[in-house]
Amino acid sequence: MSAGRFPLTALRAEETRRRLEAFLAEMGAPAYRARQILAWVYDRGARSFEEMRDLPRELRAALAERFAVHSLRRERETPAGDEACKHLFLTREGYPVESVGIPVPGGATYCLSVASGCPVGCGFCASGAFFHRFLAPGEILDQYLLMKAAGGRTPAPSGIVLMGMGEPLLNWRGTRGFLAAIGADCAVGARRITVSTVGVPGRLEALGREFPQVKLAVSLHAAEDSVRAALIPAAARMPIAALMAACRAYAELTHGRRITFEYVLLAGVNDGPRAAAALAALLKGLPAAVNLIPYNPVAGAAFARPAEAAVAAFAAALRARFTGAVTLRRSLGGAANAACGQLGSEPARSRGARRRGGV
Ligand code: SAH
Ligand code: SF4
Repeated sequence: MSAGRFPLTALRAEETRRRLEAFLAEMGAPAYRARQILAWVYDRGARSFEEMRDLPRELRAALAERFAVHSLRRERETPAGDEACKHLFLTREGYPVESVGIPVPGGATYCLSVASGCPVGCGFCASGAFFHRFLAPGEILDQYLLMKAAGGRTPAPSGIVLMGMGEPLLNWRGTRGFLAAIGADCAVGARRITVSTVGVPGRLEALGREFPQVKLAVSLHAAEDSVRAALIPAAARMPIAALMAACRAYAELTHGRRITFEYVLLAGVNDGPRAAAALAALLKGLPAAVNLIPYNPVAGAAFARPAEAAVAAFAAALRARFTGAVTLRRSLGGAANAACGQLGSEPARSRGARRRGGV
């Protein structure tokens, strides 16, 4: 997008249509063109006005002077060699935003970012090493639209996870606007969307109230406050007892929707049998599942991935005490630094970035 042009996806489709109609009236063009343009953007995957072949050439040129199609600019796509594909986008200021397309049976999971970097600053996550800014709803939506339009290695979306860069519930304005837009303007069912969060006071309840069908994943990583606060600096603002109380409130609001607890396994930190027992005890009585994520290496981070036997032992110890499902996350994308926790590890990230530390 070049400076000064208004991105069509910056507003909800209904408002954009009104803006387009006003512009079309100025140009002496028929109002129905507005719907045609929106269909190109939301359904037909146009990335420029040039591609909107059924519009008159002069109209396309006039539109391109006043508007941009998207807020984000596509920079490059990096196949990871294992079918996952990382997409790098730039904001208007040139800040990096990364998304990942992960093929799954029947389509692909689109992993989207809600920020360039992340202010939470978890030491095991590349995104936490810098923070530029949160994204607006249209910038989150653009990742979805542009990945879908890119096609190629990434099949059509069958699900969306907000598990890229940034903390969705800290960027509540962006996340909420995105969830509303993707439902109304792209007809993606809420049941196909998962929001992953470390927990932010008041926001789990807001998510449950406003989007009860959206799936919730909570990044727990430890059942003890001292360990968790060392891993997630912002966790100090929400001790485990408060987080669990919010999860119970969420379960009530959503009539018992199952919550997935994510647990990054870090060798020698949180992967022992006592940690597994504490985790099982903590989740007792909640409609819960656990997703174990063996640590993916991040340059400069002082953590190690547990050996496979240790991962298996942790899962077995947990299963012996916990009745919910325990799954192991399949790790795709490592070859392109596109696996969980590796987004933002490209050199471009630090241009003018604020170092992590504090929210
Ligand atoms: N900020 C949100 C969502 C983005 S992170 C959150 O933290 O939940 C998505 C998931 O990737 C989280 O569960 C996070 O703990 C995990 N993750 C981060 N760094 C990782 C790493 N290096 N290896 C494996 N998983 C990681
Ligand atoms: Fe932010 Fe999530 Fe990474 Fe922590 S794990 S730094 S909350 S993106």
